[in-house]
Amino acid sequence: MILSQWDRRIRRATELTSTYPFGAEGLRFYARVATFQKSLYAEIQKALADTPKISADRPLRDELDLFLLLPHFSPFLSVIKQIAPVPLAQAAVQLAEKGPAGWQQAIEDFWHGDPELTAAEDISGPAEAGDSHDANFSDRLLAWIFLQPYAEYLADHREIAIVDGTPSTCPLCGGKPIVGVLRSEGDGGKKSLICMLCAHEWAFRRIYCPACGEEREPQMAFYSAPEIAHVRVDVCDTCHVYLKSIDLTKTGLAVPVVDELATIPLDLWAREHGYEKLQINLLGT
Ligand SMILES: [Zn+2]
Ligand SMILES: [Zn+2]
Repeated sequence: MILSQWDRRIRRATELTSTYPFGAEGLRFYARVATFQKSLYAEIQKALADTPKISADRPLRDELDLFLLLPHFSPFLSVIKQIAPVPLAQAAVQLAEKGPAGWQQAIEDFWHGDPELTAAEDISGPAEAGDSHDANFSDRLLAWIFLQPYAEYLADHREIAIVDGTPSTCPLCGGKPIVGVLRSEGDGGKKSLICMLCAHEWAFRRIYCPACGEEREPQMAFYSAPEIAHVRVDVCDTCHVYLKSIDLTKTGLAVPVVDELATIPLDLWAREHGYEKLQINLLGT
């Protein structure tokens, strides 16, 4: 049952609240976001139960069922108003005021636009009223959170595609990787990446920069902290971009997207050392 993937994330976020107090506030927010996403996924599943699987050669983002999605957008904004840090809650109020035409615009802009969020702004910091750049960033962040369950449903109900090579962006939807995963396989271990939008996981090379394509070993390094031994920071010294990887050989209990959110000290460390994150997460970190 696919709904259980949401339950695993919610459970892990709740667990990590006590393990990593520095991430507790963000994790509590995430657990409530994921609870909403789980119910939206269930609605989508119910509505699309009788539709055929999407063919493997069709880009996932050719789909966009606004008739299905739009009625859920206003309830989503109401939830965000109640649970989000102040700046994001304010952005939800402003977006709610724009009405259905504005909501559709926000959804379409994100879905059909660049599949990334690059403005690394702190959503827990003070909001500057009237700053249109901030508003645009927040609208994209809201659309991203809202569209994840839909994208994930499409990825889960799609014919299996044969992927050539090891692309640096999601072979299904073109999204950037949000986190890497290491699993044991013989002696070497196996690396894969998880998509920011549809949560698809695809195989990746162990020594290769997903931002610039660097593959010379001396340029690629990873760092970890003893107190968070199962999460490491993979950095590229050519383009100065980093991405976290969750080492499931060290703890099988980890849920990569949640452990990524929880380990804020590693982001602070990376930024202090001049590295920029490949893809910010939905806490804006
Ligand atoms: Zn994807
Ligand atoms: Zn690079």
